[in-house]
Amino acid sequence: MRDEAQCVIIGGGAQGAGLLYHLAHEGWTDTVLIEKGELTSGSTWHAAGLIPNFIGSLNMAKVHAEAPELYRRIEEETGLSPGWHQCGAIRLALNDDEVDWFRYVSGMLDLIGVENHLIGPAEILEKHPLLDVSDVKLGFWTPHDGWTDPTGATNAMAKGARQLGCEVVRHNRVTDMNQLPDGRWEVLTEKGRIVAEHVVNATGSYAPQLGAMVGLEVPIVNVNHQYLITEALPEMQALEFEPPVIRDPRASCYYRRELDSLLVGPYEKAGAETYGLDGIDWDLHFHLLEPNLDVLMPWLELAAERIPVFGHAGIKQVVNGPITHTPDAGYLMGPAPGLRNYWLCCGASIGITQGPGAGKYLAQWMVHGQTEINVAEMDPRRFGDHCGPHGRYAIERAIDEFHEMYQVRRPGEMRFAGRPQKMSPIYPKLDALGAQWQEIFGWERPQYFSPDGTPESHSFRRSDAFDHVAAECRGTRERVGVADLTAFSKFEVTGADAAALLERLVANKVPTKQGGMRLVHCLTGQGGIEAEMTITRLGDERFYVNSGIVSQFHDHDWMTQHVEPGEDVTVTDVTDARAILAVAGPRSRDVLSQLTDADLTNDSFRWLTGQEIEVAGVPCIALRVSYVGELGWELHHPIERMEELYDAIVAAGEPHGLVHFGAYAMNVMRIEKAYKAMGSELTTEITPVEADLGRFVDYDTEFIGKAATEARRDQTEPLSMQLVYAEVNADDADCLGNEPVYDGDRIMGITTSGAFGHTVGRSLAFAYVDPAFTDPGSTFDIAIMGKRCSARVLPGPAYDPGNQAPRA
Ligand SMILES: Cc1cc2nc3c(=O)[nH]c(=O)nc-3n(C[C@H](O)[C@H](O)[C@H](O)COP(=O)(O)OP(=O)(O)OC[C@H]3O[C@@H](n4cnc5c(N)ncnc54)[C@H](O)[C@@H]3O)c2cc1C
Repeated sequence: MRDEAQCVIIGGGAQGAGLLYHLAHEGWTDTVLIEKGELTSGSTWHAAGLIPNFIGSLNMAKVHAEAPELYRRIEEETGLSPGWHQCGAIRLALNDDEVDWFRYVSGMLDLIGVENHLIGPAEILEKHPLLDVSDVKLGFWTPHDGWTDPTGATNAMAKGARQLGCEVVRHNRVTDMNQLPDGRWEVLTEKGRIVAEHVVNATGSYAPQLGAMVGLEVPIVNVNHQYLITEALPEMQALEFEPPVIRDPRASCYYRRELDSLLVGPYEKAGAETYGLDGIDWDLHFHLLEPNLDVLMPWLELAAERIPVFGHAGIKQVVNGPITHTPDAGYLMGPAPGLRNYWLCCGASIGITQGPGAGKYLAQWMVHGQTEINVAEMDPRRFGDHCGPHGRYAIERAIDEFHEMYQVRRPGEMRFAGRPQKMSPIYPKLDALGAQWQEIFGWERPQYFSPDGTPESHSFRRSDAFDHVAAECRGTRERVGVADLTAFSKFEVTGADAAALLERLVANKVPTKQGGMRLVHCLTGQGGIEAEMTITRLGDERFYVNSGIVSQFHDHDWMTQHVEPGEDVTVTDVTDARAILAVAGPRSRDVLSQLTDADLTNDSFRWLTGQEIEVAGVPCIALRVSYVGELGWELHHPIERMEELYDAIVAAGEPHGLVHFGAYAMNVMRIEKAYKAMGSELTTEITPVEADLGRFVDYDTEFIGKAATEARRDQTEPLSMQLVYAEVNADDADCLGNEPVYDGDRIMGITTSGAFGHTVGRSLAFAYVDPAFTDPGSTFDIAIMGKRCSARVLPGPAYDPGNQAPRA
């Protein structure tokens, strides 16, 4: 083994090999993959090999689509067969929610060109004659997916990389790791030491143990999964074709043909077991667990109802192995929090499917600093410090996600496993008001307030929360509303070079005057929107920086990792130390004036400024800003004083008709104001030019990504898409984001978010569309769950286009 490399990947399963293959094709051939056993000897070898195109997320669907694409062609490149079977797949819908979900996912797959058809029971039966379809409403038919041989596929990817010069070292365990003073990583192995600029933890079930070597908590829990293979079935033999893979939500099972047998894989909906919480023996290779059929019985009985021949089949083999699960069932792909050039590529629960795509996009990230798709839902930094590998949260969530593997997740629906983790001090008071909670980065945050406490009946269509959210919007717009916004990231950036750091990072001017505030965006070197922050200058060398809570680790790393050697800058994360109460609406000044000596008039406290004042005796950084587009203040204060501040605001607000509002209403009101959101309209694969952020970019300053953004702005050929804001002729369902936008029969755009604007009485949406459709008044169709709804581009915000309200 060589003693230096540009990159070392640890782990030779589907994830590690997928990354090795793509790094090689991106030109990083000075890469060494180190595997403690044989390639595939972890979880990969015993997988059932299914490669589903169906998945409820657009970006994950892009990842999944890479697998069949690669497995179809890799034999030609490497001479090794991945054992690809393109038999297609059908997922069954048994109720109306699943039908709605299918229509939504169908639109997403149309957007990325994955062929799919919604077919009725008769057609399902034609394609798979052994099924009982008596309770089936609809099938989601994806003709181009199927299954592969996980060992063959992994070996083919590794060979593809070796052909280009990468090295694979087998039977060599990594025993320890350290970061050297020059930033490179020293990797200690059984066969010696190797130093690399980049390291990748692709060790699957062992990822938490490998992470522990560098003090990293990797939120992965292994959950055992089993599948059964029957004896040969005459009925299967009699079929003269390979029927599609079937996914059945009632039995929570997949079924595929294995030679003349049937392979049945249940994700039991109760009683799933974890594995290796206290660590896994390093010497295990090609290891299987004892079968446990008891836990599967209820689901196997349902499977026998779905495929009656299974009911009388003998069982030839049971495979039981651990699968890595994260708290949200997505994998970990990207930089490890707090560590420079330490990458994660692990945690996949359908890793044979996700290996090629994860490898492709992580390779782009490592080599180019940016991916061509939005990878926020894969970024390891989406998990907060409440997610340690063996904490209650990680364990309960992993089990719950396993149980829910084949169930529909409706918009706004949150799972309760492992919660609550982080609550602001006023949680009990908001709970008593009927708060319906969502969890975000560990924090509990009200979605809306249900006056009689009835939980939301979630739906892809307008739910029973609709009228309550309308009341919250109305109360805030007409009078005054209060919201707990504690779940936001908060940083103090201080030091003689604090301004220089921020100026380098953001595409806008950093406020020069004390109290000045600006909305700013950090860009990648290629101009992609990496972060959105509000910066308030509290002193010559002191800035207060806020951003969305899910960006807490990301934004902290982005700032600290851009500090140049010798610079005097300290970034202090004060997220957990401060709470935020937002008071917004035309009467917010009247309410707050009763509680403070500070002058809140326009002359003394202008819109988009901040001051350190006392409110109800509580020291606050008061920011005159409002994400809902009203006159309003955010009061950032010591979290231990939150209850007294909240009580005072409620008491002062009640005579003014104060209402509470939650995240749903906030989203409605920001869309009414046409405020863009990070993660929806603003993502790394978009530059400020497409996102219509021109007024937030100051080309007279120097900042990361400036050259690329300027080039995009000045290019002569038309942009491929541009952001528009539109009203939609919707009936009982509004845009969720990721719906296809049509000009006639041509898909020419994609929505990013939407909501019914209660104040303006119209359904609204943002969409990226063909630039020919950006003029106000342009019309096109949006397919909301398959139904074409006409939409018209608006010239400006549907609510308060003159922006009078926040300046009042
Ligand atoms: C029963 C079953 C059925 C499944 N069916 C499917 C399916 O149909 N479709 C699908 O997509 N997925 C399926 N999966 C999931 C799939 O197997 C996993 O998601 C995938 O194999 C994960 O790949 P990986 O590369 O992350 O991990 P692994 O394959 O476990 O690879 C990690 C590697 O790291 C090595 N390693 C660990 N520590 C060290 C160290 N210190 N030094 C060097 N090397 C180290 C290990 O030896 C191992 O080879 C199934 C899983 C199970 C259990």
